[in-house]
Amino acid sequence: MMSETTKLNAFPVFMRVENALVVVVGNGDEALAKARLLSQSSASLKIVADAPEAALASWISSHSATHVEEAYAPRHLEGAVLVFAASGDEAFDRRVSEDARAKNIPVNAVDRPELCDFFTPAIVNRAPVCVAIGTEGAGPVLSQLIRAKIDRMLAPSLGALATLANTFREAAERLLPKGHARRRFWNEFFEGAPARELEIGHFAEAQEAAAELLLRRSAADGHVALVGAGPGAEDLLTLRAQRLLMQADVIVHDALVPEAVVAMGRRDAERLAVGKRKGCHSKSQAEINDLLVGLGRQGKKVVRLKSGDPLVFGRAGEEMQALRDAEISYEVVPGVTAAFAAAADFELPLTLRGVASSMVFTTGHDLKGGTLPDWGKLAISGATVAVYMGRSVAAEVAARLIEAGLSPDTAVAVVENASLGDRRLFHGTIADLPALGSRDELTGPVMTLIGDAVAGANFAKSEPLAALERGVAAIEIQETDA
Ligand code: SAH
Repeated sequence: MMSETTKLNAFPVFMRVENALVVVVGNGDEALAKARLLSQSSASLKIVADAPEAALASWISSHSATHVEEAYAPRHLEGAVLVFAASGDEAFDRRVSEDARAKNIPVNAVDRPELCDFFTPAIVNRAPVCVAIGTEGAGPVLSQLIRAKIDRMLAPSLGALATLANTFREAAERLLPKGHARRRFWNEFFEGAPARELEIGHFAEAQEAAAELLLRRSAADGHVALVGAGPGAEDLLTLRAQRLLMQADVIVHDALVPEAVVAMGRRDAERLAVGKRKGCHSKSQAEINDLLVGLGRQGKKVVRLKSGDPLVFGRAGEEMQALRDAEISYEVVPGVTAAFAAAADFELPLTLRGVASSMVFTTGHDLKGGTLPDWGKLAISGATVAVYMGRSVAAEVAARLIEAGLSPDTAVAVVENASLGDRRLFHGTIADLPALGSRDELTGPVMTLIGDAVAGANFAKSEPLAALERGVAAIEIQETDA
């Protein structure tokens, strides 16, 4: 039941303003704000300003608005479809408002609801698509907050997609029976391949994909997005990742991706955890590849959510190969990799003028055998080294680097749970690094950064690595004494 209080006192409509005259009266910021808003439309804009302030004057000179540089008179409103009283002066705006009403022209007076026949909504512009948010003048801050949220949800290419849809409307009506088939076509059009192609600026491919959809009339194809979830904090997800999560039928995620990030997905999406935490592989890589291919074949929209960036130690290569072999369409969405999150937590410049101009992403696990892998040489020549999955092999990494000639004094920064509220930061030198391997209380993922650039980090919030080792030793001694 709709009670009296849930009724709108201002009813939203979209008004045709193409080539119609809209008049703004005012010299200052208020007039400029309205002029900016209106310039998003194709209305022909007239600004009545006898003494425009500098910002307004320069805006007018660079936009296609007519400037009437005269003292305001009621005749200036003649022929307008809308009037904005935006002088900033109440008595003056009242006069303009009364004049407009006398001529039966709807009027808006900035910040004076009682003088308004209509309100201007906050808008999300994806012309020809537009979302308008109104609060009947009660909450401009609230409408801006809502606007920002909606803006994030809608792809920048949505307008182009709607325009493309218009060119297919007639053919869709001709070729597809009304009802389920047509609806399915449009669903696929707006969320499937045509939308994806436009998102990356491929207009011709989008057109082709739409044509194919129209002619094929078969069940929708599946699609797999390999998406970087970032280092853990939900707000380090990209907008594209968030949008794909909202559209997913199935989310297949690793153990390292926190629940809070997975929860950003569509509420009724199926969620599959495919494990892979050190020591408890719940599914083999081959099984994961098969799972993705199987879901794609069923026509599902799959988000394969991987921690950090999917292309950094994420075994995305194998998944992409399997999808290519099975001819299932896929895309890759980058994410903030752990090394970048750890560097940010430490305020650590990964490249530093005159000190480090290259960077190595490595894992300690290629140290098996007697030879130092190639990245060792880079480390010695000054690169900043980011070691993934390096905790249990910390001692070997340190020994090898020192053996190869890196100074034992080279700075080291270690971050557990980078980007998350419970992160811990440690600093020291390569000589201290073996302490890391024996630190069993570090249960979260650990990133190790090595190199001279590390010395440029902020150590105010970090604990010394070496003290930890001594701490452990001290406890052992106490126990022996007891
Ligand atoms: N694709 C991921 C890396 C996966 S390998 C990325 O781009 O970040 C897993 C390793 O990443 C962990 O062993 C750890 O070294 C690192 N890692 C992932 N998340 C981390 C975090 N929040 N803090 C520190 N290290 C992290």
